[in-house]
Amino acid sequence: AVTATQTLIAAAEAHGAHNYHPLPVVIASAGGAWMTDVEGRRYLDLLAGYSALNFGHGNRRLIDAATAQLARVTLTSRAFHHDRFADFCARLAELCGMEMVLPMNTGAEAVETAVKTARKWGYRVKGVPAGRAKIVVAGGNFHGRTTTVISFSTDPEARADFGPYTPGFEIVPYGDVTAMRAAVTENTVAVLLEPIQGEAGVVVPPAGYLPAVRELTRERNVLFVADEIQSGLGRTGRTFACEHEGVVPDVYVLGKALGGGILPVSAVVSSAEVLGVFRPGEHGSTFGGNPLACAVALEVIAMLRTGEYQARAAELGAHLLSELGALTGTGRVTGVRGRGLWAGVDIAPACGTGREVAERLMHRGVLVKDTHGATIRICPPLVIGTEDLDWGLARLRGVLGV
Ligand code: PLP
Repeated sequence: AVTATQTLIAAAEAHGAHNYHPLPVVIASAGGAWMTDVEGRRYLDLLAGYSALNFGHGNRRLIDAATAQLARVTLTSRAFHHDRFADFCARLAELCGMEMVLPMNTGAEAVETAVKTARKWGYRVKGVPAGRAKIVVAGGNFHGRTTTVISFSTDPEARADFGPYTPGFEIVPYGDVTAMRAAVTENTVAVLLEPIQGEAGVVVPPAGYLPAVRELTRERNVLFVADEIQSGLGRTGRTFACEHEGVVPDVYVLGKALGGGILPVSAVVSSAEVLGVFRPGEHGSTFGGNPLACAVALEVIAMLRTGEYQARAAELGAHLLSELGALTGTGRVTGVRGRGLWAGVDIAPACGTGREVAERLMHRGVLVKDTHGATIRICPPLVIGTEDLDWGLARLRGVLGV
């Protein structure tokens, strides 16, 4: 007999563009770290919406905050003020140790906003000649899918057939500060980096890299823009991944978990000098900073202020990374990287591709996603129970045959 799963996947294939290759599972409901499919099967979620679900599915505090706001007002556009906006900006700026916030919706939009901010700052504050601004980025980056953002991707799949590309970007190897120093000129307005590269496979740069970038950018009057869309807001055991290296960038780019897994909320957060470059009419978004988004994000910020989620990610993350580290001696895994509750595991060719491992895990009730062929990423909701995580890791060992 044809299952509901097969029917729904066939319809999705027929009518949805094929810009993704999802695992063959159709989710119908979820709570905490668990999801249930249309057949009633349960799965442990070890992806957490690429870090958008740091606080778990159906988090009570976040659902309550959203529900209360749904009943009051959800959208005003920025043509008018609304009564959640000031608090949202003030609290988010405070969480970041910054002064100003520019809210958007998706991560890619926030990265675009950071690019525009840095260019305008370059022309108006730094004094770069018109049209000459350069932004230095790292190879292997992932900052989103818009035309400008893929213009500085090094992933052929993300770029092919989408040109012509936006100029003004210089790509240097990630983790190589000598190459970055050589790439910075008097027209460089920003260095844009993920402090840990998520989509690349949870690539942690060498110790000292981020502080060296900080020193270089300060010396050369260049903005250090940290894309913490995936790494930020608790994932690594700190509020920001930059904190592990004692680095404070000039600009944070935030998204994913800021929307509490409920709706897209992103933001660029910086000083008044930097975000102060904008004048009315120069940038915006119909939905950016809407009342519902602000209400949910305010609850996210309140939860992060206690530090409990960061502490949980640090504690459980140490356990996760030591368990995964034990796999490296087995010959079934060729590399393990990570920080906090976030890990990339490179699968040995003898065990199949990352996709095959993800499919085998799915059949045992664990959902992960492969990246770049041989890597699987483990990124559970920060609220996952220790026993649940251990259950998932036992399934992984089973699939790898260790
Ligand atoms: N920047 C980073 C570091 C990301 O990991 C992502 C998404 O994976 C993005 C930007 C893009 O965010 P969005 O998919 O919300 O546009």
